[in-house]
Amino acid sequence: MKQWNEKCAVVGTYNVDNAALKSYYALFAMQHRGQEASGISSSDGKKIYTHKGNGLVTKVFNEKNLKKLLGKISIGHNRYSTAGKESLDDAQPLFARYNLGEISIVHNGNLTNADFIRSQLIEAGAIFQSYLDTENLIHLIAQNKKEKLLDRIIDSIKVIDGAYALIFLSRRKMFAIRDPYGLRPLCLGKITNEDGSIGYITASESCAFDLVGAEYIREVNPGEMLIFEGIGEKIVTLTSLQVLPPRPYPCVFEFIYFARPDSKVFGKNVYEVRKNLGKELAKEYKIPADMVIPVPDSGVAAAIGFAKESGIDFELGIIRNHYVGRTFIEPTQSARELKVRLKLNPIAELIKDKEIIVIDDSIVRGTTSKQIIKILKIAGAKKVHLLISSPQTISPCYYGVDTPNSNELICATHSLEEVRKFIEADTLGFLSLEGLKRSIGTTHHNFCQACFDKNYVDDYTKGKK
Ligand code: SF4
Repeated sequence: MKQWNEKCAVVGTYNVDNAALKSYYALFAMQHRGQEASGISSSDGKKIYTHKGNGLVTKVFNEKNLKKLLGKISIGHNRYSTAGKESLDDAQPLFARYNLGEISIVHNGNLTNADFIRSQLIEAGAIFQSYLDTENLIHLIAQNKKEKLLDRIIDSIKVIDGAYALIFLSRRKMFAIRDPYGLRPLCLGKITNEDGSIGYITASESCAFDLVGAEYIREVNPGEMLIFEGIGEKIVTLTSLQVLPPRPYPCVFEFIYFARPDSKVFGKNVYEVRKNLGKELAKEYKIPADMVIPVPDSGVAAAIGFAKESGIDFELGIIRNHYVGRTFIEPTQSARELKVRLKLNPIAELIKDKEIIVIDDSIVRGTTSKQIIKILKIAGAKKVHLLISSPQTISPCYYGVDTPNSNELICATHSLEEVRKFIEADTLGFLSLEGLKRSIGTTHHNFCQACFDKNYVDDYTKGKK
């Protein structure tokens, strides 16, 4: 069940038929990464067109406004606010006119030195239109005196720190860049147009490629910039520049919770990794039980892996209602129970008098886990053992994920036994950090797991332990 708020999603298409429509489908596929606002900018080589609005992709776009987004280049964004406020000013793409022409930007992540850069820019006379950290880039590019946009972008990237998967659109070119840590995912795909010409797509998750018939090529490397150019000419070109030295540290939580299971992120299939998390959990906790059930949907793949490894039957003991929109519930104890019950309901006939292992992806405040255990016990469960397919979350994220402060994270403030008692589980267990690493398999790089071990990678966050 959703306990963390996802980051944003970005997409860019270059030399693609119906580019804006392709971005629309890609954003639709990545709706899970942000539901507050959505937007697309496109270019026909002469002018950039932008449409954005608050709400889901299907609410923001319709046939009429998509038709106005002309051209074969486009960038798009789904927003979940991690920086800035919730007004439309803070929705992306961010569009601006400046002395080289027009530019539009989409960003997934969080710039950790944004306040420092912003105060310097304001000191130098910049006037900001939004609260977005991304707007710093518009000003850095506009104030730069170099002749080429490429050089201005490179200079700007060199002064920002933190997490970013960025796509810039000018009237004729597109630039995709990933931070040197590769904290946020970004992958590259190829689209074959109807006339046989080749176009490109870059997106946060590869599930976006499937919907538009794109072929996965690879992930954009940490610190790498991809330059797409030549629109309107015989052949478009794709150039790779390593603009910053790579220091790979991608977010491990993409595997645990954020990314869609049908996506490939950091070069690995998310579903397979999630099943491995469950298998490792089963190796670490040998508990006799009648069945293993997932907390839907986030615990499903890990529960399948757990059942396979342990030999205990997998059952869908809790059914999720997918149609719960906004609920208007008072923050009382009984109302909180109702909130969980609106979304999740156990199958009492299955659960009654049974000893159950429940698998979930993480524990944040502990209140949801407590309610889930309560509804299972009310349904007649004899014992409920809660196992979590990640280590204990003890520290917030500064890289574009909306997490509570440390003092609200129950595992940061309470011992394991205190948490177990609070949620009223018969057993409570978390996957070890070693088990997490084993689940991902042999890797060519380390992963950020700072919310579990406080090892933040960037210079601005290192001190915030
Ligand atoms: S702190 Fe946690 S959520 Fe944030 S980037 Fe690192 S692993 Fe991901």
